[in-house]
Amino acid sequence: MTPRKIKKTSLTEVRIEWDDGHKGLHTLQTLRQYCPCASCKMEIEANERSVMLPILKPGQYELRSIDTVGNYAVQLTWVDGHRTGIYTFDYLRQLCECDECKRTTAE
Ligand SMILES: [Zn+2]
Ligand SMILES: [Zn+2]
Repeated sequence: MTPRKIKKTSLTEVRIEWDDGHKGLHTLQTLRQYCPCASCKMEIEANERSVMLPILKPGQYELRSIDTVGNYAVQLTWVDGHRTGIYTFDYLRQLCECDECKRTTAE
């Protein structure tokens, strides 16, 4: 399962066309919230312990570029400079927010 095409379709959305024909949709906010890098994971855990609201950094949910890493993942570079998140294709697919995937998770 690999993305055939990855395209930023708006300021808040990325669409991925998979080689199995699936048309994936991702919002940048969700992608950033689920950033798999070590420091973001730590931040999520810290937020769970305290009741502090996450501080919104400018550019946090703005995507600068998408790069493919080998043949297993993509690296997202954000406008605030964050770029350590490597999203494997499997992980990306789990985060998919298209109507079809939303329906299967809701049921
Ligand atoms: Zn991160
Ligand atoms: Zn989907």
